Amino acid sequence: MTDVDIAVLGAGPYGLATTAHLRRAGADVRVIGDPMSFWRTMPEGMVLRSNWTATCIGEYEGPLSLDSYMAATGARFGRPIPLDRFIDYGGWVQQQVAPDVDVRQVELVQQGTGGFRLAFADGGRLHARRVVVAAGIAPFAHRPAWAAGLPAELVSHTSDHRDLSWFRGRRVLVVGGGQSALESAALLHENGAEVEVAARKDHLTWLHGGKYHRMLGRWAPLVYAPTDVGPMGLSRLVALPDLFRRLPRPVQEPLAHRAIRPAGAAWLQPRLVDVPIRLDSTVRELEPVGNRVRVRWSTGVGPTVDHVVLGTGYRVDVARYPFLAPPLVDALQRVGGYPVLGPGMETSVPGLHIVGAPAAWSFGPIMRFVSGGWYTGQAVARRLTQTDHRGSRRTTEDPVERQAA
Ligand SMILES: Cc1cc2nc3c(=O)[nH]c(=O)nc-3n(C[C@H](O)[C@H](O)[C@H](O)COP(=O)(O)OP(=O)(O)OC[C@H]3O[C@@H](n4cnc5c(N)ncnc54)[C@H](O)[C@@H]3O)c2cc1C
Repeated sequence: MTDVDIAVLGAGPYGLATTAHLRRAGADVRVIGDPMSFWRTMPEGMVLRSNWTATCIGEYEGPLSLDSYMAATGARFGRPIPLDRFIDYGGWVQQQVAPDVDVRQVELVQQGTGGFRLAFADGGRLHARRVVVAAGIAPFAHRPAWAAGLPAELVSHTSDHRDLSWFRGRRVLVVGGGQSALESAALLHENGAEVEVAARKDHLTWLHGGKYHRMLGRWAPLVYAPTDVGPMGLSRLVALPDLFRRLPRPVQEPLAHRAIRPAGAAWLQPRLVDVPIRLDSTVRELEPVGNRVRVRWSTGVGPTVDHVVLGTGYRVDVARYPFLAPPLVDALQRVGGYPVLGPGMETSVPGLHIVGAPAAWSFGPIMRFVSGGWYTGQAVARRLTQTDHRGSRRTTEDPVERQAA
């Protein structure tokens, strides 16, 4: 069994950001995962909702930024940032920070003597003193109970589709009123499907597309943080995860909700003018009728369509990470599926850290987005290498000794 000090499980934006900061601080890190694999499952033609700075991995200024990538590679593209360009940028970041990435699949993580034992799908084993789980949200795709038991030909989640051309000429209902539902509807429409959207609320919320940013000009940074999460003012607050974590829970929850309420990017509106949008529409049941599906609203019978696409988002539940051994999950202090985290995103199991969207309950809404990786990388590196704020290394803390103490 090979030994390593820190295993970072995941090579998406969070795993790469964490690795970058850990390696800068001199840590011994093994990075495991298929780089940017989740993003390669997203629909062709998609563009990113986050702005330029917020789409940077690990840092928005410096050698890993989008600007540095453009300068180094000569890549040129506009805004919003196209998905394929972001994937390419992620691959470039990986080459900079983790050219030695281990692309094997981890099947099991369990506690062992002096750390954790990782088992790979190919039969390999690894012992790590600490593990940073940066495994993303793919296992958390939310499929409501009324969609259970129906075949994939009739009902699927937005995350199931990369190539939407299969839907050409088919009648499709997209359920949901947030960005993933609305962008999927636009892409389905552009791929020749006959699309309709059903949203539960009585209105859709559209983002302003940077209107206030432009109006404020050079004053904009006072009220908008480069992390680009949340409206004017609140954007600055949620960009400070250490402060957000210290707010009383009854204050945190409405702020987090306001910062990430379901909304569509402004550039989607013109793409949806020919797509009917049903508001106040709650699906109660889906009934297969031959090779089609009949929708029943809470208010009565709805349309019969060829396919229903669930734009119902993601619900974090770390118990659904298939590689976490059940005793390890049981040992985690959790609230509603989220791990309760301390400094450096460390869980209640010493030496086990969980970053990305599962950190949102403890550190706030920016953890659901790429830009939360900047804080995360620094916070994990600070915790694990005990560097001071100037970056000089002090000690390396041993989680096992700390647990015994
Ligand atoms: C449609 C859509 C659009 C989005 N658009 C934006 C946007 O515009 N801007 C934004 O900031 N955020 C956006 N997000 C959110 C975004 O997905 C997350 O912010 C981001 O993916 C989080 O990165 P991550 O590194 O945590 O996870 P991921 O990017 O999912 O990376 C997970 C990594 O873990 C690896 N992994 C998982 N399980 C294992 C295992 N068992 N063994 C080995 N490796 C494993 C994977 O291979 C991968 O390398 C979007 C999400 C969706 C669904």
